[in-house]
Amino acid sequence: MTRTVAVSSEKGGVGKTTTASNLAAAWGVLGHRVLAVDFDPQFALTRAFGVAPSHASATVYELLSQDGVEPDDAVVKEVAPGVDLLPARRELRRLEIGLVSEVRREEFLAQALDELRSQYDIVVVDSPPNLGLLTVNVLCAADEVLVPVSMVDSGALQGAAELRASVAGLAKRRFDVRVRALVKTLADPRRVMYQAIEEPLAGLGVPVARTEIPLRADFNNAVAAGVPLVLSRPDGRGGLAYRRLAEELFAGRPALQAVA
Ligand code: ADP
Ligand code: MG
Repeated sequence: MTRTVAVSSEKGGVGKTTTASNLAAAWGVLGHRVLAVDFDPQFALTRAFGVAPSHASATVYELLSQDGVEPDDAVVKEVAPGVDLLPARRELRRLEIGLVSEVRREEFLAQALDELRSQYDIVVVDSPPNLGLLTVNVLCAADEVLVPVSMVDSGALQGAAELRASVAGLAKRRFDVRVRALVKTLADPRRVMYQAIEEPLAGLGVPVARTEIPLRADFNNAVAAGVPLVLSRPDGRGGLAYRRLAEELFAGRPALQAVA
């Protein structure tokens, strides 16, 4: 069974794209077949894998808005070991406006992914930083949601709480989606802010992943380099943390290197 994992929070800058790209890469290294889906008009996940939307023959926008575009036209193969990418572009913004008048407007992404899912073990979807119709499409397409909480940003907690409420609202409408875990990102336990956020975070009533992602300056360079840190610096603290998180969330087959 394919698992579809959304990475969402209403708040920007909390590490959604960093988490989506590094988990996708880590799961790929662990031997899973992974599809990374960019559903943010700012297309940061696309850039994180070094893909320029202008070079893609089609993106998730064309797939959802134009007749005759097949999933395989839009998927970029093997952007990282074991990872294919469904890229986004800025025009995805227009889809949000176009969808408003459509029937079953929350389910466009879910339907598009239905044709692709069977080729993969895990689908990872990155979301825009708001609770608009694009994010609702992501949540409706997902089985489980990871919510990054930046431990240097007091507003991240609010973002997590609102996201949890949205997921609960969808579950009530019989969408089969749940919050899998909150993930502490940009974590530095020595900081006052970390300590201030930790307790209310535990009080949200949602599981918190055991693995925390440390605050590390090298995450900033990884997007510009177009290679997730898990691959460019696999033994650095940031890369190791995402590998551990990938294993915590989805115990995988042994890495190929380990078998050889
Ligand atoms: P979002 O997708 O939620 O907007 P990003 O993943 O783009 O968040 O991260 C926002 C910024 O914080 C980026 O510049 C990114 O490089 C940086 N960042 C993300 N995770 C970390 C981390 N663990 N340590 C330091 N910087 C980080
Ligand atoms: Mg992002």
